Amino acid sequence: MSGILIIGASHSGVAAAAALRTAKYDGCIKLVTQENVLPYHRPPLSKEALSRDEFTPTLLRPASFYASNEIDLVQGVKIVELNLEERHASAENGDLYSYDRLILAQGAEPRRLPPSVDVGAVAHYLRTHEDLAALKARLSAARSVVIVGGGLIGMEIAAIALAKGLEVTVIEAGPRLMERTVSKSIANYLLDRHLNKGLRIRLGSAVSSVRRDEDRSVDLVTLGGGEQIEADIVVVAIGAAPHEKLARDAGLKVENGILVSEAGLSSDPAVYAVGDCSAWYDPDLGRHIRNEAVNPGQDQAKIVASAITGTELPAKRLPRYWSHQAAIQLQMSGDVNGIDMEAVLNAPASGAFSVLGFRSDRLVAVQTINAPQQFGKLHDMIGMDRASLAAALDVEFPPPHHH
Ligand SMILES: Cc1cc2nc3c(=O)[nH]c(=O)nc-3n(C[C@H](O)[C@H](O)[C@H](O)COP(=O)(O)OP(=O)(O)OC[C@H]3O[C@@H](n4cnc5c(N)ncnc54)[C@H](O)[C@@H]3O)c2cc1C
Repeated sequence: MSGILIIGASHSGVAAAAALRTAKYDGCIKLVTQENVLPYHRPPLSKEALSRDEFTPTLLRPASFYASNEIDLVQGVKIVELNLEERHASAENGDLYSYDRLILAQGAEPRRLPPSVDVGAVAHYLRTHEDLAALKARLSAARSVVIVGGGLIGMEIAAIALAKGLEVTVIEAGPRLMERTVSKSIANYLLDRHLNKGLRIRLGSAVSSVRRDEDRSVDLVTLGGGEQIEADIVVVAIGAAPHEKLARDAGLKVENGILVSEAGLSSDPAVYAVGDCSAWYDPDLGRHIRNEAVNPGQDQAKIVASAITGTELPAKRLPRYWSHQAAIQLQMSGDVNGIDMEAVLNAPASGAFSVLGFRSDRLVAVQTINAPQQFGKLHDMIGMDRASLAAALDVEFPPPHHH
C-alpha cells in the first residue's frame, strides 16, 4: 500500500499530515525531511530563540504526535528525484518511496550573495536550527554586525543584535525598509524607531563585495560607491527562493514556485504542493501567488487534505503574517503590493496604530502596530469598500495619502 508521501516536514508538511488525519484519511502517510531534528517552529529563529542565551527548538508537535496519528516521520533523508510516471521518489541514500498521492512541502532557502560578491563565503544566513546555532555562536563574540537586507527577517535580527549592545548597520538596496511586505506608513514608523535606538541604516545601497581581512580578523563590506564598512560578522537576509528543482527536473510546471491550481494540484494529477515552495492560482487576481509565511501554508495544507479526501473545503482565508522588532509587534494581512491609497487609524505617536491599504477604493491590506485586537477586527473587513468601512468603523478617514 503506497498512500501519501509528503516531502518536507515543516509548517506546511506537518499541517498537511495532520489535516489528512483530521479529514479521516486512513491510508499510509509518510513525511520525509532532510533535517535531523523533530519539526520545529521557524519564526522564533529570528526572534526569541536568537535573543535568549539558551534555546531548544520549539517543536511544531510533540514527538508522540507522529506515532499516535500513524504518521511515519522519516528524518535526515533527502529526496533527489521524482518519477511521476511510476509514482515514486528516490532518496539520496538509494531508498525508494512510492505513492498514490504526493504533496511537495519543500519550502524555500535563503537567497545567497553571488560568489563574485561573497568572496570566500564569510556571510551567515538564517533558515534552519543549525544556521541559528552557528549565528548565535558568532554573535556572542562579536561587537559589530552588518546585516545585508532590510526586510522583515533582517530587521528582526538587527533589533536583537542592537539590544545585545552590538553596533549594527543594515544595508538595504531598495529605497525603503521592508518594501515587499509593509506599507509606506509602517516602514517610515519602523525606520524612525530603529534610528532612534541607534541602528545605522543605509538605504539605496548595494553591496559589491564581502570579504574577510584575516590579519585584522574583520569582515569588510564594500558598497557600490566604494565605501567600506568593517564588522565582526556579516548576516545576509535578502529573501528566500523556493525549492523547486526537484519539481522542475521531473517536468512539473514551475515559475517562482511550483505552479498549482486553487486546490493545490500541480500539472500532474497525483502531485500537490503547499507552503513556501508553491505558487497558488488566485482566480480574483488571475495569476499565481507565492506566499512565504506560516499561516498561508497551513491553510493550503487543509485545502489539499480536503481535495484528496473529498471532504468539505475550509473557508477561504487571507494570508496573515507577524513580525517582532524589539518592543514592536507588527501584524499583517492581505497584500500591500499595488495598493493605491493608505489611511492610518490612531496616531502612530501613540505607539499603537493601524494602516489600511486600499486598491481601487477597496480594503486589500491591514497592518497593525501593537494593536492585536484591532487587527482581528480589521482583518475580517478586508474586501469592504472605503465608504462602508468608514461607516462600520464610525470614523472619518484622514485625508487620503495617494501613492
Ligand atoms: C528566520 C525566519 C523568521 C520567520 N518569521 C516568520 C514570521 O514571523 N511569521 C511567519 O508567518 N513566517 C515567518 N517566516 C517564514 C516561515 O518560517 C515560512 O513561511 C515557513 O517555514 C514555510 O513553511 P514550509 O513548511 O512551507 O517550508 P519550510 O519551513 O522551508 O520547510 C521545508 C522543509 O522541507 C525540507 N526539504 C526541502 N527539500 C527537501 C528534499 N528534497 N528532501 C527532504 N526534505 C526537503 C527542508 O529542509 C525543510 O525542512 C520566517 C522564516 C525565517 C527563516
